[in-house]
This record gives sequence, C-alpha cells and structure tokens, in this order.
Amino acid sequence: MENSKVVVITGASSGIGEATAKILAKDGAKLVLGARREDRLQDLVKEVEELGGEAMYIVTDVTKVNQVESLAKLAVDTFGRIDVWLNNAGIMPQSLLKQKKIDDWDSMIDINIKGTLYGIGAAIPYMEEQKAGHIINISSVAGHFAHSGGSVYSATKWAVRAISESLREEMAEDQTNVRVTIISPGAINTELLESVTDKGFQSNFEDFYETFGISSERVALTIKQAIDLPDDAAWNEVIIRPTKQV
Ligand code: NDP
Repeated sequence: MENSKVVVITGASSGIGEATAKILAKDGAKLVLGARREDRLQDLVKEVEELGGEAMYIVTDVTKVNQVESLAKLAVDTFGRIDVWLNNAGIMPQSLLKQKKIDDWDSMIDINIKGTLYGIGAAIPYMEEQKAGHIINISSVAGHFAHSGGSVYSATKWAVRAISESLREEMAEDQTNVRVTIISPGAINTELLESVTDKGFQSNFEDFYETFGISSERVALTIKQAIDLPDDAAWNEVIIRPTKQV
C-alpha cells in the first residue's frame, strides 16, 4: 500500500511485539522486526506477508548498541524511512531485594532501560531529518505503582516513562512532528513470566495472570490506534488494564 507506515519493533518474537506486527500487517504495514530468537522472527515474517504486510528482520539484542543501530539502518536501507519505532523488548524477573539477584537487576536495567535508550538513539536522527516520526515505549502499570518484589522492574518502567516525557519535550522544542507515546499495560498473557527466575514469584504470577490476564492483541490494538491518530496529535500515555484486574 502506498501510504503504509514503516514500523520497527524490538522484542518482536513473541507477545505484544508479535501481536502488534500481525495487526499492523493487516493494514499493509512495512515491518522491520528485531529480537534474539531468529526462528520466531522467520516464522513471523511469513505470517506478516500472508496477512498483507511486508517484513524484514535482523537478529537484534537490544543490549548491544551496534545491533540496535543495524536494525534502524535495515529499515532505512530497505524502506527509506522510519515512521514508528516501538521499544517493546523487556523482561520481568521480579524478586525481593534481600535475595540479591544481581544478574537479574543488571539484565532488567540493560534490556528495559538501556535497550529503550539505544532504540531512541538509533531512530531519532532519522526522524529529526524526516521532521516526523513516532516513538512508542512500552512501560507498565508497574511504572506507576511499586510493590514488594517489584522494585527493579518498577524502577526500569518508571525510567521508561521519565525518558519518554523528556523526549516528548525535546521533540516539541525542535518543532518536529515526532510523537512520543507511552503504553503501560496491566496483566497481558504472554511469555513474560518465563523471564521470572524466582519460582515463588513465578507461581504467584501464574495464578494472577490466569485469573486476570488478557490477550496481547488488546495492547496491539491500542498501539495501532495511537499510530492511526493524525500526526498533529499524540496519545502521550495510555494505561491499558484488563477490565477485571484488581
Ligand atoms: P514476551 O516475553 O512475550 O516478549 C518479550 C520480548 O522481548 C520477546 O520478543 C523477547 O525476544 C524480547 N527480548 C527480551 N530480551 C531481549 C533482548 N536482550 N534483546 C532483544 N529482545 C529481547 O513478553 P511481553 O510481550 O509481555 O513483553 C513486551 C513488553 O511488555 C515488555 O517490555 C514488558 O515489560 C511489557 N509489559 C508486559 C506486561 C504483561 O503483563 N505481559 C505488562 C506490562 C508491560 P527474544 O527472547 O527472542 O530476544
């Protein structure tokens, strides 16, 4: 399609990223997909094409700045521009601070915060040149409320919101049409629980998600609506929770 958007998605190999790719594909979007699991990306490219979109992928670990830069370059080399960059890759290995799961702390900071920053750094130069674009950052309800065991995850998602608001102001000061949107989901049934390394927390989450969790398609639809808004207006933040989530 002539006017279809070029959308880059990190963490596209499952859950919210994958669902977003599929929903946008139905509109003929040109998708550039990044994640670490190559087999999943290969399958998704085929599905996107069957749904009516175009797709390319490159294996991308968002903790590696050069790989994130290559993802952006692939989009521009292939499709000539980047209309939307979705910083979606994330993990949630929650635990109590006294457990000192330092590897998990480091991974969450590297993937959830630094990965988002590297995505912004890779996309913004192109968007400034285009004088248009849209950065969508996935935060969380946990970026609004902290609770026992959620300290580092919440801190990373709080950081995503702080970074997003600063970016929004910086883009507005430059008088570009670069929009910034934060999407903060509640309980969404995805593979995210597999990143929880503490068995106790994992089992509590399983019960919680079984009771309240909803499909990742709901978040994908929200992302699509944010993209579809005319570009002189932006949803700056959306909290999307299961209706029955307590
Ligand atoms: P999934 O586990 O299904 O998806 C996470 C994605 O992130 C995967 O595609 C994974 O791909 C990717 N990823 C993880 N580490 C890296 C890395 N180092 N480099 C590149 N990609 C990486 O979970 P969700 O879809 O739920 O998660 C998507 C986002 O939504 C996350 O930021 C999460 O924090 C957020 N979120 C989720 C909620 C939920 O209830 N599910 C609630 C609130 C927020 P791969 O392993 O192939 O690299």
